[in-house]
Formats: sequence, structure tokens, C-alpha cells
Amino acid sequence: MKFAGYFANDTIKDKELFESITNELHRQQNQIELIASENFVSLEVLAALGNVMTNKYAEGYPHKRYYGGCSFVDQAEELAITRACKLFDCKFANVQPHSGAQANLSVLYALAKPGDTILGMGLAMGGHLTHGSSPTISGKWFNAVNYGVNSDGIIDYNQVLKSAKEHRPSVIICGASSYSRQIDFRRFREIADAVGAYLVADIAHYAGLIVTGFYESPMEFADIVTSTTHKTLRGPRGGIILSNDENIAKKVDNAVFPGVQGGPQMHTIAAKAVAFGEALRPEFKEYARNVLANSRALADRLLELGLCIVSGGTDSHMAVVDLTNLSIMGKIAEAELEEVGITCNKNTIPFDKLPPTQTSGIRVGTAAMTTRGLKAQEFNKIADLIYKILSHYEKSGYESIKKDVKAEIIDLCKKFPLYS
Ligand SMILES: *Cc1c(COP(=O)(O)O)cnc(C)c1O
Repeated sequence: MKFAGYFANDTIKDKELFESITNELHRQQNQIELIASENFVSLEVLAALGNVMTNKYAEGYPHKRYYGGCSFVDQAEELAITRACKLFDCKFANVQPHSGAQANLSVLYALAKPGDTILGMGLAMGGHLTHGSSPTISGKWFNAVNYGVNSDGIIDYNQVLKSAKEHRPSVIICGASSYSRQIDFRRFREIADAVGAYLVADIAHYAGLIVTGFYESPMEFADIVTSTTHKTLRGPRGGIILSNDENIAKKVDNAVFPGVQGGPQMHTIAAKAVAFGEALRPEFKEYARNVLANSRALADRLLELGLCIVSGGTDSHMAVVDLTNLSIMGKIAEAELEEVGITCNKNTIPFDKLPPTQTSGIRVGTAAMTTRGLKAQEFNKIADLIYKILSHYEKSGYESIKKDVKAEIIDLCKKFPLYS
């Protein structure tokens, strides 16, 4: 399938820009992608993203628009909504948020007022910026209080309860960006009930595992569930908001539009519908099963090699590697691995002594490379290659080790082609 004319195509006039797209395609094809928040969408999702619905203004919701000519975009949005509700087993879905951050902002706008207290997981502990971090609206316009993990790297539920009782938040947010373990959503519900707070679960990272039953769903416990659509769910870049209560759903709809956003990106919503359709198929369950098996294989092998993993393992698609017993910080590990063709990100570890610009850890995830067909055997291999680089950094023979690893990565990428 030809999609969006990405390839050397005589009809493209803007050679300058399209060169950057082609280069990015080649980078994706030739690197081992371990960034836990990334994935590779199907050609059908890509095709839906580059479609004429980008031309259409459709402020409002299906059959309640502020513009004429909306019958076909209505059809697309209704498909996306119906599929999302089926996928997450819920009654209401708003598929318009442009991103996960927009989804979260809309939810805070719907449930709280400036100055209200919100309780979320601290950024340095694994939470997301939008859960009350100081440089964001969530941290500036609300009285944001944090919880974190205990010394075993597990969410400190006692601290959450204590903090909730002390600060009486109107909203409690659970969900994380670099927390690999199962979140106890029932426990969060009990805590929220104890103080009369709304509970919001942000499943941006886990969504693909949740809809396939490989990670427990918060749907029956949270008042609102938010997610991105582009991480383990493997859809286009975007956000969604899910709920089961009609009043809350109405508040959410008003908060997304006109509260926070203008016209929805109808081409992206079309692509979300395609991705939700894919996630409903049995193949996606097989995919998610492999994502989890691969992540366990990667983490187990890294542990075997003597590396530390925050919390000692993983229940999801990701693991946070603690580098403190190696003489390399996260920032350098990220750069050195990129040089040999492994992409990941530096990541703070709980109680990190280094700032977020340096960090003592890296985060690795298996969602993207599992899409390319890699299995546990290959992830064992990747763990070996990561270890080779990190443990030989600045030691004798490092340059030639780097060369060997680079060659092995290229081989591996060739065996598992992407968009070819
Ligand atoms: C990635 C992420 C987001 C933000 O998503 P964007 O689409 O980048 O805005 C929100 N919450 C969590 C937990 C995330 O991991």
C-alpha cells in the first residue's frame, strides 16, 4: 500500500520537508526502538491519518455540530466512540482530545476549580507532568500534592491514604509514565471514597494491555479514565476520555469542547477508529501477550546480567533500569545506546540523587519492537547488547565493542522489517 506518498515520489514538490520524513522512516527501520511510550501504527492507521477529513471543521459532537456538512465525519466519530466503548467496556467515550495532556487538562477542568487540591504521583517517582507537576497548568493552577513509591519501588498506598486524609483533594489521579507494576485501582477507589474525592485513572501507558486483559482495568473503579491512543494501544497520536456516568460524561464533553479545545482533528479521529477496530481483533490480544512476555524476558535477562530494575521486575510493557551500580548515568547511557542503534530514554529512578537532566536510570519498553515481530529470544539478545555497551563504557576495547554491537543491531533490524 502506498501511504501519503512518503516515498521517493515525483509528484512531491516539497523535497526539503519530505526528505526529513524519509530520513525518519529509515531511522525507525534501522534502530531498535525501546522508548516505552512509542509504537508503530499499521499502514491503515497511517492512511487514515493522511485523509481529507483534515479539511473539515466539526466543532461540537456527532449530530450536534456548529458547522454544516458533518454527516460523514459524524459517521467516523461515532465509529470511534462505539469501538472505544466496546474496547474499554464503558458507556461513554470522548475521542476528541488532541493528546493525553489535553485529555488530562480537560478532566481537571471538568472536575475541579483553580485552587482546588489534587493528589497525583510525583514526576520523579514515575508520574506524569500533567498529574500536578509544577511547570504545568496542573501544578500551577491547582494545589498539587504528590505521592510516591516505597523503598521497594511499589506505590506507597499508606502514604496515598495519609496524604488524602491530610490534604482532602477533590481529585486523586492514579496512573504513571514510568511505573512498571500493576496499579491497585481498587485500593485507590477506597482511598478516594474515604475522603470524597473523584478518582481519575490515567492509563496512557497500559491501555493496550488493559483492553486485552493483561493488565487490570480501572474502569469499574475510577470515575474517569483517560488515555493516550498512541502508546501500547498502537493508534494515532491522541487522547481519549472514558466514563460510565452520564453526568460526568456531559461535564467531560463540555470541558473538551468548548472548554479546552476548538475543532476536533477529524482525520485523527478516523485513525483512532481504525486503531480501536484493530485492537478489538484477536491478533491484538496475541500482540499484547507478546509485549508482556517480551518485557519480562528483557527485564529478567538484565537482572541475570547483574543490572538493577526498579521494583525488581515488571507487570507491563516497560522496565526502569537502575544504573547506580554501573559507572554511567542515564543521560550518557541514552546517548551511547543511540549511537549503536538502540533508542531509549534517560529516566529518573525513585529517590534519584541526580537531576532529571542526568538521571540514574533508563526506561525501556517492548511495545514497538513487538509490533515488528520480535520475541523473547530477540529481547534476551537486546538485553545482552545493552549490557555490553553499558558495562564496557570508557573501558579498553570499547570502540570495537560498539562497532560489533552496531552490526548486530543492523542485522536484527533487517530480520524484522518495518513498512517495507
Ligand atoms: C504519555 C502520557 C501522557 C501524555 O500524553 P501526550 O499525548 O504526550 O500529551 C499523559 N499521561 C501519562 C501517564 C503518560 O504516560
